[in-house]
Amino acid sequence: MDSALGPPEEMAEKRDELTPMMRQYHDLCSRYDEAIVLFQVGDFYETFCGAAERTARLLEIALTSREDSTGEYPMAGIPIDNAESYIEELLEAGYRVAVADQVEEPGETSGVVERAVTRVITPGTLTEDELLASDDNNFVAALSREGERLGLALLDVSTGDFYATSATAAESVADEVSRFDPSEAVVGPDAPADLVPDGCMVTPFDARAFDRERAGEKLSAYFRNPDALLAGDAEIRACGALLAYAEYVRGGEHEGERGDDGDDDDERVDAVFEGDADHRLEYITQLTRYDPREYLLLDAVALRSLELFEPRTVHGRDDATLVGVLNETASALGGRKLRDWLRRPLLDPARIEGRHDAVAELKGAVQRRERLHEILRDVYDLERLIGRISRERANARDLRSLRDTLAVVPDVREQLADADCERLRKLHETLDPLADVRELIEDAIVADPPIEITEGGIVAEGYDEDLDDLRSTARDGKQWIDELEDRQRERTGIDSLKVGHNSVHGYYIEVTNPNLDSVPDDYQRRQTLKNSERFVTPELKEREDEIVSAEQRSDEREYELFCEVRREIADEVERVQGLAEALATLDALVSLSTAAAQYDYCRPEILDRDAGQHVEIEGGRHPVVERTQESFVPNDARLTSDRRLAVITGPNMSGKSTYMRQVAQIVLLAQVGSFVPARAARLAPVERIFTRVGASDDIAGGRSTFMVEMDELATILREADERSLVLLDEVGRGTSTADGMAIAQAITEHLHDAVGAMTLFATHHHPLTELADDLAAAFTLHFEVDQDDGEVVFHHEIAPGAATGSYGVEVATAAGVPESVVDRARGLVAAAADEFEASDADANGDADRVSADIDGSDRESDGPTSGSASEPTATATADGGDIPADVAAELRALNLAHLTPVEALTELDRLKQLLEE
Ligand code: ADP
Ligand code: MG
Repeated sequence: MDSALGPPEEMAEKRDELTPMMRQYHDLCSRYDEAIVLFQVGDFYETFCGAAERTARLLEIALTSREDSTGEYPMAGIPIDNAESYIEELLEAGYRVAVADQVEEPGETSGVVERAVTRVITPGTLTEDELLASDDNNFVAALSREGERLGLALLDVSTGDFYATSATAAESVADEVSRFDPSEAVVGPDAPADLVPDGCMVTPFDARAFDRERAGEKLSAYFRNPDALLAGDAEIRACGALLAYAEYVRGGEHEGERGDDGDDDDERVDAVFEGDADHRLEYITQLTRYDPREYLLLDAVALRSLELFEPRTVHGRDDATLVGVLNETASALGGRKLRDWLRRPLLDPARIEGRHDAVAELKGAVQRRERLHEILRDVYDLERLIGRISRERANARDLRSLRDTLAVVPDVREQLADADCERLRKLHETLDPLADVRELIEDAIVADPPIEITEGGIVAEGYDEDLDDLRSTARDGKQWIDELEDRQRERTGIDSLKVGHNSVHGYYIEVTNPNLDSVPDDYQRRQTLKNSERFVTPELKEREDEIVSAEQRSDEREYELFCEVRREIADEVERVQGLAEALATLDALVSLSTAAAQYDYCRPEILDRDAGQHVEIEGGRHPVVERTQESFVPNDARLTSDRRLAVITGPNMSGKSTYMRQVAQIVLLAQVGSFVPARAARLAPVERIFTRVGASDDIAGGRSTFMVEMDELATILREADERSLVLLDEVGRGTSTADGMAIAQAITEHLHDAVGAMTLFATHHHPLTELADDLAAAFTLHFEVDQDDGEVVFHHEIAPGAATGSYGVEVATAAGVPESVVDRARGLVAAAADEFEASDADANGDADRVSADIDGSDRESDGPTSGSASEPTATATADGGDIPADVAAELRALNLAHLTPVEALTELDRLKQLLEE
């Protein structure tokens, strides 16, 4: 157990003897034993004992101690004013944080100030703007099991976005988890925690939250008929438990009863189940139940290799992603919407074309588009704003931000007033300017309010009569005091008489020593200074009391009014969310059309779903690569049911991987509703995209084992069908050539004969091109390169047919490998070719077939067992030299599949040195 968590041992031993405050701390730690408890003491959040030692180290803050009659305890504190940045660091270090605030004013009680956990901050349930990325959702997941079925619920606590789905296959659930990429998960009894990806915190939560009955009740508190909404008990369990968890982290407990003995761990969870309306998160108003099959399915591997959200290369630029290219949104709302669309591309042609219509219209209307973008810049994050308002965490500035956003809605509507397409017309209809809410805020809240909500200065003049009265009393009093100086100077004849104010003594009249004789009788001495005396008069005292009490009461009244207004707005949560949704959608559409215009994308033609397999791209480009390099060569692609499997060959670096990815990305973008980087495209919606990158090509991803590769392939062979688009990039490389070739061939045949998926297979196994000639719906494509004076020239142009060689060695020249090494490599290639030809001819008597497509990097033998004809003594090389037995043996033992290119070159260099010796 982590010593920073749970009740400190040195306190637990003597809990009953602790001072009341330390007992409180101890008990809160034992209740919230999965979190570091930040315990408010005045202006600081303190931690003690093990937690203090840990936080002091992590946060680089001073470790002090607190001593009382029961002992001395290590202590470390962070200033409350600046707490968020420290909390962020604790979260990054993998901790959850329970914030225990003083829930009583120190003056209100004679004993120790009551404290309660007002929120538990965990990675998946953040609502603090400072801790959240603005244009990305932050999900917490719940996983449940009901018999065979696995339920998955996902909630963004900051926005109220809430999804549910379920499946029997663990893989499908895992795919959905990676789609939403939650930062935290609660896992129910028997649910597989291993579906939670790396980097996602698994949080223990009361198993009873997943009970069918409890979960059902919790759901009913939010949604009218959860049983009809959700498909089955697994989903109900997951959703109900997740709501309970979301309520739990909000604290909420301080409103209710709390027992004295801190051992009762379940109490706080129970509170969440008591149906107490106080706990309800009012802004969670919608639950989207979906079937994974309703969207284009992208598993974790595809998400990564198609560069949707994360750059593929370690050294890649941050914006080298699809979302980076397409994101021209003006607001956080739009940014999140765009990501959501990318995460869940559509299948239904009508819906897809609905978005295309809107993008087309906006793309053409340059001025309108630019104007909309301008206006949308002034849109605040309404979803998180209304969430805060509903959780009673919004301040007066938040309300004004809401007002400012509402103020732009009429402008937005005007821009859409004569929209042609249905999607935009509908948006025009839905955009509710919420005039009543706007008016309320304008009437009630001043234009530039302070952050503090308890110190006045928030509520506008004329909104409330009582408040106005209090204010005018205070004002009049101050006015009276302002004039007092003149009056008293006149009265006493003391020209240097001054009226002042200080925080200890309040208002005073100051008279310098030489004038003391002229002081009237009603002056009462207050304070003696070196050169002067300070006085008050009964009248001044009275006025002062009046002012102070009026100001105090007016602050209180303002706070009251503010809370009323906030509640009133909170009642409109669904309308605000509706508006947020409409603005988000518009922003995303404007963004897509801006990208389309900027990068010269075309509108893809979407075929009916019964059109069968059809991917036809003219002059397609890779949306990310074309942004990161100077010139890009467009290429065509055409896959149909009778030509659906392409075997692609070509030297390294000729453009195979880029080509395959661009085809998939164009399909994906089209189904997102975006225009695509191509001259023209006709596409029938695809239901799943699988991509597999051979182990040796993805070393950076840390997935370099052959086992993983085969495991992923197995999934494709099981799950792909004719509605799938499959990209195989150099699979079968993590093993010997013979095995790799055999596997590649078997896979190709299976995909062709049994699965029927549209497939692009980039391979260095040239014999596969022969196979493609034999399979009815398969064909070959290749990238050609030219050699100019021994230098390779890449054209990046795809053409029908198979490539003639791999040019691997020439690429090494181009990359600046020393000439001597390259020469030697040429020699070795030739030798290996001879050897391979000989052994291959022995094996199948078909030397001609393979001799045409010698590929140096692939013809490596797999050690002495590979059936090499030569003896390990001396081998003839192309330039006639001899290779000593030891070098030859080393060469044979070399497993190129397990070497990176750099390692291979280093190895080559070493062998050469060996030869020269
Ligand atoms: P391969 O998979 O055949 O080894 P890649 O697809 O990885 O080759 O491409 C290697 C590099 O060539 C890419 O990083 C890119 O810079 C460039 N490239 C690829 N395709 C094109 C193209 N169509 N136009 C211009 N450059 C390209
Ligand atoms: Mg490649």
